[in-house]
Amino acid sequence: MAAAAAEPAASCARSPPPRPPACLLVLGMAGSGKTALVQRLAAHLQQSSRSPPPYLINLDPAVRQLPFPANIDIRDTVKYKEVMKQYGLGPNGGIVTSLNLFATRFDQVMKFIEKRQTASQYVLIDTPGQIEVFTWSASGTIITEALASSFPSVVVYVMDTSRSTSPVTFMSNMLYACSILYKTKLPFIVAMNKTDIIEHRFAVEWMQDFEAFQEALSQESTYASNLTRSMSLVLDEFYGSLKVVGVSAVQGTGLDEFFELVSQAVDEYEREYRPEYERLRKKLEQAQSQQQREQLGRLRRDMAAPPVDVESGSAAELPLGPSGLILTRGMLEEGDEQEEGQDSDTDDIDHEVTEGSREEPAFKNFLQEAKLRYPAARSGH
Ligand code: GDP
Ligand code: MG
Repeated sequence: MAAAAAEPAASCARSPPPRPPACLLVLGMAGSGKTALVQRLAAHLQQSSRSPPPYLINLDPAVRQLPFPANIDIRDTVKYKEVMKQYGLGPNGGIVTSLNLFATRFDQVMKFIEKRQTASQYVLIDTPGQIEVFTWSASGTIITEALASSFPSVVVYVMDTSRSTSPVTFMSNMLYACSILYKTKLPFIVAMNKTDIIEHRFAVEWMQDFEAFQEALSQESTYASNLTRSMSLVLDEFYGSLKVVGVSAVQGTGLDEFFELVSQAVDEYEREYRPEYERLRKKLEQAQSQQQREQLGRLRRDMAAPPVDVESGSAAELPLGPSGLILTRGMLEEGDEQEEGQDSDTDDIDHEVTEGSREEPAFKNFLQEAKLRYPAARSGH
């Protein structure tokens, strides 16, 4: 007690109590600039003397070159090309299955984030180019729920402003954003990217002023424009729950405003979303019955089993199961330190089936879907 009281007041003022990091889940259509924005945000935070470096996670198994040093990189754990080959899948199926394999070990990723939680204020998560494989796959739900039930989590929806200048494409983009908002049920920031090419003012005006959007639409007389006209009425309520900021990942503009919105979104999470996610977490913990443990075990075994060759009707030879596909590079002992920014933390993910690891109901459907999809993918070629 006395020792605590004797602590110099100045040091307390300099180091406020650590708060849990905010997880920014960066989603958006292919080419919208997600990876470029994560890179820019990371550089911005690293340059700022006030904030510690962010924790960076790459969930895109198919990205060729990552322009930032990821602390956790799905590519270290899942060999995307191997998954495609062994399960007879095309690129999208390969990404979905890679993410599902990775999601079965996401409890371990959560442990890494928890270990670093006093060192980073932000966790930035880059996602696959094909947005739907993240947003509509079992693993997307598992990952989002795992993050949001432990940390303040915010969706950053990246939009290519330069490709949204037509009211019809703008509306498609907004409908996509809307479906993600209602699916993830998380605070939502729309980052209108590439403002170095075109200012995002027109888009904000369309969102705020119904008449302005209708006027822009009146230039078009397609079926899509009629549909868009009706949809725009519906989207009005959705626009009200959005935070919008114009940014340029290339030039680094709009970032202060972006972080201001993130801070508001974190407050919103604490106020409105945390109670909901705590309820969800309790429910999940209660639901971790023996039956569900068996389900996850079955999924893991099934992913290890060779897919059936539709032509011959026999099981194809599969040299590797998930533990073969999920590679281990240089296992570290608990407590070992690793050079920051050199290798990612997933190097030491252990691939044993962990007792009592997180199990999610979303897996129930995955197995059935996967079984349907594999023969379809094979017969399609
Ligand atoms: P992702 O598929 O969403 O991860 O998109 P990328 O980050 O790979 O970016 C796709 C393309 O858009 C690349 O050629 C980037 O250089 C470009 N790009 C990304 N952000 C910006 C930006 O702010 N301005 C401009 N002009 N180009 C950008
Ligand atoms: Mg990318």
